[in-house]
This record gives sequence, C-alpha cells and structure tokens, in this order.
Amino acid sequence: MTNVNITLAAVGHMPMQFNKAKIQKWPSGIFEVSGDINTYTLPTDSDGPSWEFTDKNLERVLPNDFEGEFLIAIVNVPLELNWYSRRLSNNRIVFSFHEVKDILIRENIPLENVILRLMYAYSLVFLENNRSIPLATERTNFTHDETRGCLFDMNGIKSDIVESCDKPIICSPCEDRILKARISVENIKKTKKEISKIKKQTFYKILKFIQIYPILSILVSAIFAIVLGVLSSLIATGILSKFP
Ligand SMILES: [Zn+2]
Repeated sequence: MTNVNITLAAVGHMPMQFNKAKIQKWPSGIFEVSGDINTYTLPTDSDGPSWEFTDKNLERVLPNDFEGEFLIAIVNVPLELNWYSRRLSNNRIVFSFHEVKDILIRENIPLENVILRLMYAYSLVFLENNRSIPLATERTNFTHDETRGCLFDMNGIKSDIVESCDKPIICSPCEDRILKARISVENIKKTKKEISKIKKQTFYKILKFIQIYPILSILVSAIFAIVLGVLSSLIATGILSKFP
C-alpha cells in the first residue's frame, strides 16, 4: 500500500500550545505529511446564528489547491452544528480546536494528539472509500455513538474526545468493518501499534495515578524511602569498613 499523503494547513489563529513540528516529525508507515504545514488567514466572519462558520462559508475560504491526497485544515472557530470536524468537498476536512483545546488542556493531553488521531482515522476512511473522503452529506457508517476510546468514536459529547486522545484503539466492530473494506491485516496491525504511541506525557500519567490511588501512592513512596534508606546505610557501612 502506498502511504496516504496528507496536507495540513493552519487557518487563522492557532492555540499557542499547538506544536506543528511534532506532527511533521511523527513517524508513520500509514501516512506522510505532504510538505510544510502552511499558515493561512481566515478571511471571513461567522455566518451562522450561534457565531459558527458554516460549511458553505468555509468551502469558499479554505485552501483548495494542495499537493496531498486530502487536506486537513485546522481552525480555532466554531463549526456547523458545533461539531469539531466536518468533511467538505474536494477531499477536504476541517477540524476545529474550539472547545476541544480547553478539554484537552484540562486533562493534560497534548493538542497534537487529537490531530494525529484524526490523521489515522481519516487515512483509514480514505482507504476504505477508494482513496477519497466522503462528503458530510453522504451517508457513512464509520463512526459509532458509543465512546470506546476508538479512532472512530463519534464524540457527540465533545468532552468524550479525551478517551481517544490517549492511547486510542481500533475497536473490534471497527476492525471488522475495515477488514471487509479490503485493508490488509498488516496495515491494521501497524496502525494499532502506531496509535498506541499517541499518549500523555509520563509525568501526567504519574500525576493521574496519584490522584486515583492517593493511599497506594503514599505507601509506595514510603516503601521506596525505606528501601533507599537501607541501601544508603549499607553503602555507607561498606565504604567506612574500607578505612582502618
Ligand atoms: Zn470503533
């Protein structure tokens, strides 16, 4: 299989916590990032009743000329129906950090994780659909409403997105669906291995463990301190015994 070639574009103001370089350097045997992640201005105002930017509005202003096989345009404004991602024409997808940014920061999840998760999910959708991205208006079955920590979680309740931005999985029903679309077992295995690396930093994992198991954490720290104390005494005794 030829790797899926994805163009990414940052459109409008980006959150300062977003590190584009991390996406560009991400090693993958499934997709590659086409060229640089270029920056564009958002030359329009919202046109929806709740300050959202409708698909019709974004269709006109998002880049339409790109080298990759599909485009993910990243914005930071509300989208139609307050979704965080919309599929547009000409193999273009728009993703918004609106609300998602605050949810991820609250859970100490790097913002790049959600972009990587989408890149894997849409790469598989692209392959399933004969190397094209179906329109938002087309009937598709690649998402499920239940939150399973899967690449294909719908996340109708936006805060559920955290489940699939820290070691996401491909759940069994989704794996069956992808296999039926003639994507190889090897490529699914490769994807699963790569997405297991989309995770929180170790420091925040330890912090979470302490929050969930405070007593156990205190006990582990106490045992560790005692062991360290005993070891220090033994080393000191050993060193002192060398002197007359
Ligand atoms: Zn699934």
